[in-house]
Amino acid sequence: MTISAHIEEIKKELPPSTRLVAVSKFKPAEDIMEAYNSGLREFGENRPQEMQMKAQTLPSDIKWHFIGHLQTNKVKMIIDKACLIHSIDSVKLAQEIDRQASLRSITKDCLLQIHIAMEETKQGFTSAEIRESIDLLKSLKNIRICGVMGMASYVSETGQIRKEFTTLKSEFDFLKENFFSDSECFKEISMGMSGDYRIAIEEGSTIVRIGTGIFGVR
Ligand SMILES: *Cc1c(COP(=O)(O)O)cnc(C)c1O
Repeated sequence: MTISAHIEEIKKELPPSTRLVAVSKFKPAEDIMEAYNSGLREFGENRPQEMQMKAQTLPSDIKWHFIGHLQTNKVKMIIDKACLIHSIDSVKLAQEIDRQASLRSITKDCLLQIHIAMEETKQGFTSAEIRESIDLLKSLKNIRICGVMGMASYVSETGQIRKEFTTLKSEFDFLKENFFSDSECFKEISMGMSGDYRIAIEEGSTIVRIGTGIFGVR
């Protein structure tokens, strides 16, 4: 199946409340252009240098999403390229994004990455850490917190995956109710990848991030 055929299939499954971000990491410009020509404008990258290069050479109406772990010293490479940074996973990173945004007199849209998987390695705040840091995070004037992001465990058992997405949705609801009830932009739940996006949609995802399901294996 071609890239555009994959996109058509996935689009049919998306409810109007869920956006598709095509994860184009490691994929060449031709592949991205095929997706672009079939109408997609939102692409996700997880390496600063790669996003920077692609943003410089590909059409300027593409909206780039930064979805990977971001080191503080790389923030300046992507701050004016990324429309949304999905992966704030520490106070230190949030402060650096805020600082770089303020130097440029901009406000950067960001999501808080929350650890929901069983694996130790996946990045993100625990819900206890979020509660501890939320006042500080909210006080940063040059970042706008638009919601949460999470990655489920890489397992075949769908019950476990569903449970993790439910946890992320509850965390979103808790934060919305207690800290962002007056915020119009706090509305995104970025969850769901190629293997689990159908479950994520059922559990309330507003953004799915799909790579291999569109572009094939990396
Ligand atoms: C690579 C990646 C994806 C896409 O994964 P696929 O399984 O290829 O769909 C989604 N989110 C993040 C954070 C990623 O790093």
